[in-house]
Amino acid sequence: MGKDEKTQLLSPEEGAAVSVSNQEGSSPFLIVCEHASRTIPAGLGGLGLDAGAAESHIAWDPGALAVATELSHLLDAPLVAARFSRLAYDCNRPPESPGAMPEKSEIYDIPGNRALSPEDRARRVESLYEPFRNAVTDTITARMLQGNPPVLVTIHSFTPVYFGKKRDVELGILHDEDSTLADAMLANADKTTMLARRNEPYGAADGVTHTLKLHGLANGLLNVMIEVRNDLLPDEPAQKKVATELADMLRAALASLETTPVTENTNA
Ligand SMILES: [Zn+2]
Repeated sequence: MGKDEKTQLLSPEEGAAVSVSNQEGSSPFLIVCEHASRTIPAGLGGLGLDAGAAESHIAWDPGALAVATELSHLLDAPLVAARFSRLAYDCNRPPESPGAMPEKSEIYDIPGNRALSPEDRARRVESLYEPFRNAVTDTITARMLQGNPPVLVTIHSFTPVYFGKKRDVELGILHDEDSTLADAMLANADKTTMLARRNEPYGAADGVTHTLKLHGLANGLLNVMIEVRNDLLPDEPAQKKVATELADMLRAALASLETTPVTENTNA
């Protein structure tokens, strides 16, 4: 048995760990959706979860893929989306993070993530995280080589009630060290009916900006992480409405920045 066969978690029938669509889209934007799917690889035996937990927000971001897909159409932007649950591997966490393969999420235990061996962890990293990370890297690299550094936008949804507490914020605009695009989006908050707030319901200190740091900050790209409260995304019309508002905000934000240089690399 070759190395690949031993380390591969996904069967050929399950397909790739990541989906890339509209790769040749004409837009400056690149849409990324790390928590798009609640599918758990068959080889992980459902992680020992009951149906309630496996379908809940801990397994995925309900509605996020629908919004990201619509946004990809509206903006004509490439979309990179994970095809498996964040409970198998959270693609918005680095391999060394305890949150990459969490033993507990909110009020739920994840039995199948308890006491993983280094080999188990490496297999998930190689099978789920690395293909996702590489797809984002390859998309960015291709555009940078064409002289078109992309604007990185990650799409998430969050639960309206967390640890029993209700959240008022409807739209979170999150950033790490570079707040340029987030600032410009918040300056265009009149283009959404949602209650928009900066770095809510959580922010960089909670470890949620891995993708922004790895792919955005490291490449000097404009970047933002968008969080929509998932009770605003119950069906397709609602998801399309949210995506339309986000597209308007993103276009206006980028237009407001285009008068000033935005991607100077001070390391050059
Ligand atoms: Zn998320």
